[in-house]
Amino acid sequence: MKQDFNICGLSPAPGEKISDYVQVGQVCSMPVTVINGAGRGKTLLITAGIHGGEYPGIQTATELAQEIDPGKIRGQIVIVHCVNTAAFYQRVSYISPLDGKNINRLFPGDAGGSAGDQTARFLTENFQKKADFYLDLHGGDIHEKLPPYVYCPSVGEDKRALETARKAAEYINAEYMVMSTATTGAYNSRAILGIPSLLLERGGQGQWSRRQVDRYKEDVINIMRFLGMVDEKPVLPQKPAVVLQEVVYLDSDLDGCWYACADIREKVEKGQRIGYIRDIFGNVIKEYYAEFDAVVLYVATSLAITKGTRIITYGR
Ligand SMILES: [Zn+2]
Repeated sequence: MKQDFNICGLSPAPGEKISDYVQVGQVCSMPVTVINGAGRGKTLLITAGIHGGEYPGIQTATELAQEIDPGKIRGQIVIVHCVNTAAFYQRVSYISPLDGKNINRLFPGDAGGSAGDQTARFLTENFQKKADFYLDLHGGDIHEKLPPYVYCPSVGEDKRALETARKAAEYINAEYMVMSTATTGAYNSRAILGIPSLLLERGGQGQWSRRQVDRYKEDVINIMRFLGMVDEKPVLPQKPAVVLQEVVYLDSDLDGCWYACADIREKVEKGQRIGYIRDIFGNVIKEYYAEFDAVVLYVATSLAITKGTRIITYGR
């Protein structure tokens, strides 16, 4: 237990929890629950809603905040129910409507920047630095379709943190595990600074279901077990995730109408056409082909697509 555990003024006594809004400078506020366990242990940070349209993660965070009994855990759990509340309420995908930026590409953030930069900095300084382990709950966004998968960081100085994250990732009930080399996502940024971190993807297309949230909660509880915060041992999923070492993230080169030629989980061959873009008059203006034999991990399901936004992801 920690007598003086304090996150932005939220300081529950051992065996108690507090839920309240935390103010991010002059920019916005975030709903946060701080759970201070009755026993001594690690600090687990959980964030959801960095992308406001990814509902399963947000619902999972809220249910866990209500259901976890601080009297029965060791250590602390800090839950940010929804980072990007402006996007959540306005039903905006990807970006923060406050500045048009994708917060997940802004870490470790900038206190002198725009709303998204400041939010990223605030999370880094006041939340991530106090964590021993970090779980970032995502999903397919409002126009995205994907199977459950986990991103595991593979870049960083601290090999022990990377190893811990890799081990923990095996306890996530996912179809795929992507070894990520990105550096600006919330969980990558943490891994680079030596805190084991994972990003989870579950659900999408602007929906959430009881089953998805139950599965998501099992993932988080399994990580709590892995960290020794509860008595039970972690349970490996029945089927281990397929590990993908190399992933291609294709962004649209222009505005137009998007047509995917392959669905998620589908195997594609090198040179196979995987999607194309027509202009609004119906003329094909761009085609995309697979660079290597791969499995499709993600597709955009909206007809409308804008330059620079993701259309399809595949890996091997
Ligand atoms: Zn996301």
